[in-house]
Amino acid sequence: MANFTIDAVKAATYDAIVIGSGISGGWAAKELCEKGLRTLVLERGRDVKHVKDYPTANLNPWDFEHRGQVPLATRAEYGKARSFMREETLHWAIKESEQPYIEDKPFTWTRGYHVGGKSLLWARQTQRWSDFDFEGPARDGFAVDWPIRYNDMAPWYSYVEKFAGISGNKDGLPHLPDGEFLPAIEMNCVETHFQNVIAKNYTDRHLIQGRCAHITSPQPIHTAQGRAKCQHRALCVRGCPFGGYFSSNASTLPWAEKTGRMTLRPHSVVHSIIYDEKKGRATGVRVVDANTKQMLEFYARIIFVNGSALNSNLILMNSTSSRFPNGLGNDSGLLGKYIAWHNYRGRMSAEFDGFPDKATDGKNPTHSYFPRFRNLHKQEMDFLRGYAVGFGAGRGMYATQEGIGAGLKEQLLNRKWGNWGVSAWMMGETIPKETSFLALDKEQKDPYGIPTLRISADWDDNDERMIRDYLEQFTEMFTKAGFTNIKATDSKAAPGSDIHEMGGVRMGKDPKTSLLNEWNQLHHCKNVFVTDGACMTSTSTQNPSLTYMALTARAADYAVKELKKKNL
Ligand SMILES: Cc1cc2nc3c(=O)[nH]c(=O)nc-3n(C[C@H](O)[C@H](O)[C@H](O)COP(=O)(O)OP(=O)(O)OC[C@H]3O[C@@H](n4cnc5c(N)ncnc54)[C@H](O)[C@@H]3O)c2cc1C
Ligand code: SF4
Repeated sequence: MANFTIDAVKAATYDAIVIGSGISGGWAAKELCEKGLRTLVLERGRDVKHVKDYPTANLNPWDFEHRGQVPLATRAEYGKARSFMREETLHWAIKESEQPYIEDKPFTWTRGYHVGGKSLLWARQTQRWSDFDFEGPARDGFAVDWPIRYNDMAPWYSYVEKFAGISGNKDGLPHLPDGEFLPAIEMNCVETHFQNVIAKNYTDRHLIQGRCAHITSPQPIHTAQGRAKCQHRALCVRGCPFGGYFSSNASTLPWAEKTGRMTLRPHSVVHSIIYDEKKGRATGVRVVDANTKQMLEFYARIIFVNGSALNSNLILMNSTSSRFPNGLGNDSGLLGKYIAWHNYRGRMSAEFDGFPDKATDGKNPTHSYFPRFRNLHKQEMDFLRGYAVGFGAGRGMYATQEGIGAGLKEQLLNRKWGNWGVSAWMMGETIPKETSFLALDKEQKDPYGIPTLRISADWDDNDERMIRDYLEQFTEMFTKAGFTNIKATDSKAAPGSDIHEMGGVRMGKDPKTSLLNEWNQLHHCKNVFVTDGACMTSTSTQNPSLTYMALTARAADYAVKELKKKNL
């Protein structure tokens, strides 16, 4: 019996455990396996195999029974979790009853609970951060100083960009550093028109093509992953059979698998991390098997927590011991606090009657991008920080449906191009605050017996002022561009609608005011690394996932070196 127990522990012991298989977990798996570690990747959701498990990828519009709509009865089964409610994407939707959370204040939490996580759902916009971001909190006096600067990150950005495949132009902007780009996807004529108007009227503002994780010119490192050139089908959200965009499923996970050192265990909901008081370190994780509801344990020397920002907070808060009664590594009492997100409330739409002879049906998997221009070099506005903006233009065909008989038929068969439609959406930085926090509700348990996450987060005056400025400035710029029927709207959407939630386990220099050091290591439990959005000290305006990838690769490199030195 004793032998059996030792054998069982041995069988459940790995060099490393990675919690979550999304964007950051996929990178952790790849890096740790490549560096020789036998790595267990634990994923709460079902498996999704690249190509095979993209059931709608090659369907035509007429193949969908309900023309894309999801019937009401089916919608009802999903409760308030209404993301991906189209026939083409229903395979990614999750049912609220199975994965509840509590909104102390309105908060939209979009999740991807399957192998690959949100890497199969994302819009693939990838910009580097700069020192305008990493120095932001210290300069503007909020949150705490980041323990790293752009120079710490630059080589790691290059490293992940080359592997993932990022298309874009070298724009030479100090606040949006250039990267290792594949050729950019072309802007359309209205985007170029707006770009010219901005260049003519402003010295401090720029419209550039969006940098995105699409392979526009496959390099040997991409073909080695089995990925091919993006075909501009713009059906990415169904899952791309070409591997044209970066996802864990197309890229990092198969790469890790090829090493022969990865064990991927789907249906494995991590409950908590096991802390051994005598050894003074984490020794493994407790897992609820989603199918059998059995509690299992797995062990390893190092643990990477990559469950996505809010879930990683949940896991650490639920990892209590007599040494850490308030959550793993939480001596500062700040675990779960200072969460932040991006402000996408400001929306612009308009029409343009120029270029009547040019057309596009919008088959372009990206859009153009307006980097931040407010408060860059000095504080000049009545709000802190600034906003970037996404901009796109497209044109549809319409048929007049008047009359009957041959006249009607004639009109239906001879559709005409409508005006161009343009839209812009703000992506504002929000300020992390102690009053925006997460907590566990120990009375209300989820279907796996894990306390339910409570989310308490709200907008503040800074956000309101920023929205006002965005709407004013873009009304002015749209007018200068000759756009008509301009509509400037505050969507009033709840925090979280941007799907860029961050913080709660922030990095910092001082263990009294942060949870993680400059290597994403818990200050007080050094063999646990948190490298997803939970680690973010502030939010910048840039999309965050490229930074999670770079932080993960950097932390994995450090972890393996420390392991080899026997420091972990
Ligand atoms: C529609 C949409 C558009 C987006 N567009 C962009 C964009 O353009 N650019 C950008 O940078 N970002 C974008 N994002 C955000 C981006 O997807 C996330 O930032 C990114 O996926 C986060 O990576 P992650 O590894 O932290 O989490 P995820 O990719 O969400 O992966 C986390 C994984 O952990 C698993 N997990 C969670 N809890 C547990 C547990 N207890 N046990 C085991 N496994 C667990 C989950 O099931 C999931 O597979 C977008 C997101 C969406 C939904
Ligand atoms: S646009 Fe490119 S990445 Fe998206 S589905 Fe088409 S081929 Fe794939």
